[in-house]
Amino acid sequence: MDRDVESDPEAESTYECLGCGHMATETNHPTDCPECGDTMRNRGTPFE
Ligand SMILES: [Zn+2]
Repeated sequence: MDRDVESDPEAESTYECLGCGHMATETNHPTDCPECGDTMRNRGTPFE
């Protein structure tokens, strides 16, 4: 149990800033919002 298996590790997921609502699509979980530095939350795989 050394990896988050909720999605393909190569797949991009969408993250939303809890502070300013900035959206980012990343393959790795961004630790901080690039806009305001608040926490980024995983919103799951984006719709195609
Ligand atoms: Zn932000």
